[in-house]
Amino acid sequence: MLKEIGLGIGLALVIFMAVSGYDMTPFLILGLTAGVLFYVARSRGMLAKNFSATPAAVRPEIKFDDIGGQNTAINELKEALDFIGDQERIIKLGIRPIKGILLTGPPGTGKTLLAKAAAGYTDSVFVACSGSEFIEMYAGVGAQRVRQLFQTARNNALKQKKRSAIIFIDEIDILGGKRGQNTSHHEYDQTLNQLLVEMDGLKINDKVMVLVVAATNRADMLDPALLRPGRFDRQVKVDLPDKSGRVEILKLHCRNKPLAEDVDLTELARETFGFSGAHLESLANESAILAMREGGTEIGKGHFLEAVDKVMMGEKLDRRPSCSELRRVAVHEVGHALMSEKIRPGSVSTLTVSPRGQALGYMRQVPEDDTYLHTREYLESQIQVLLAGSVAEELILGGRSTGAGNDFEQAVQTAGQIIRCGMSELGVVDPEILPPDLRYRALSGIIKAQEKKVKDFLEHVGEVIGQVVHILLAEEKISGDCFRSLTQKHLTG
Ligand code: ADP
Repeated sequence: MLKEIGLGIGLALVIFMAVSGYDMTPFLILGLTAGVLFYVARSRGMLAKNFSATPAAVRPEIKFDDIGGQNTAINELKEALDFIGDQERIIKLGIRPIKGILLTGPPGTGKTLLAKAAAGYTDSVFVACSGSEFIEMYAGVGAQRVRQLFQTARNNALKQKKRSAIIFIDEIDILGGKRGQNTSHHEYDQTLNQLLVEMDGLKINDKVMVLVVAATNRADMLDPALLRPGRFDRQVKVDLPDKSGRVEILKLHCRNKPLAEDVDLTELARETFGFSGAHLESLANESAILAMREGGTEIGKGHFLEAVDKVMMGEKLDRRPSCSELRRVAVHEVGHALMSEKIRPGSVSTLTVSPRGQALGYMRQVPEDDTYLHTREYLESQIQVLLAGSVAEELILGGRSTGAGNDFEQAVQTAGQIIRCGMSELGVVDPEILPPDLRYRALSGIIKAQEKKVKDFLEHVGEVIGQVVHILLAEEKISGDCFRSLTQKHLTG
């Protein structure tokens, strides 16, 4: 309304001045330029963002039952949400309402799902955005968007006759990082300040109760002001699922899929250590796609195993290495596999020389049951498996190649972990103040000792490397069972 009145007055003024004989050309040019700039800025979303227009603003139909493997997080969240439903008692007891809940954890673990389910659980409207949407080069834009976000949430709730609204801010670390650290810090700081102002302004007896749920993987990066009582009061950890969590998530995502009899989701959960919920969803989807490509009507174990490789390593590539390169890759992978099987019989899951993602070939291990603590022996055995690829190349082909770069990096990291955790000859040390030469000697001591063990072992089984390489090159991919039947005699003998 105000805009229209202003426009009318401006227009009347221009006409009046033109009639009075003023030269209006400079004013007209100025007005036109300002109009064009305003239009461009608005059309690119530089000034304002229409949060209500995003599909996420529509009330989602996700329930807590649709989220697997996050029982602890769900219970903590529900406990906090129950406050929203019981406003009268909160007021009576004089409890400060919860204004913000921070979900912390790696990507793809279900933080967005939890926020959506929270909206369903509390019968609230849901408005979602990401921290990056607030960051523009133009001063004041971020702060304006924060105001608009809260306004949108309230308006939507009133329109839908709801008592509460949940605002979900993904990647809050982008907008809520420690103040004064960013190069264009003034704009970042203003945006964060505005968020704090809006949160401080939330009252229990507001017409619409607003709860901010934010997600981040880097809670340590957040400005301490955000974590103060009265702002993000509650922190809920949303971790990667453990084995039983993975079974639950796989069950959820396979609900609508026809599975063959040989599919065992518990076994599949064992194969997928370190997978997030998003990985598992992708795994179920990819295996269905593979089954469809083959013209099947059911998804079999083979489809799932192939999909695990795809989700882990990326799409199979058409790139075809030369014959000599392929042979080198095969020798390298067989080296890894022999060492792995020697250390933990039954640990090789697949061995392949078809390029996928960044890798020319790979050996995939069946992870042990989820483990969170490692002994020195365990870490050393991991180093042995990592080194075995390049040691096999040296033994069979007379030299090493650049293909082992990544293995060495990981081996050095693992050796560093042994030192850091006080399991090396140096005893308990502060890695920060450890002289570099001392650290270097300890590191290379650990690695050289493991390399020697690997060399002794592979020399002992050298003959079988050639046999397996021959079959691997012909088949392109062999299963762990097939590998074991080829090598068992040599490994146990
Ligand atoms: P985040 O917000 O933590 O990055 P999302 O909630 O966006 O992760 O999850 C992405 C997708 O992954 C979801 O749409 C869902 O299909 C799947 N997913 C993630 N975690 C779970 C879970 N715990 N249970 C079921 N599905 C999940």
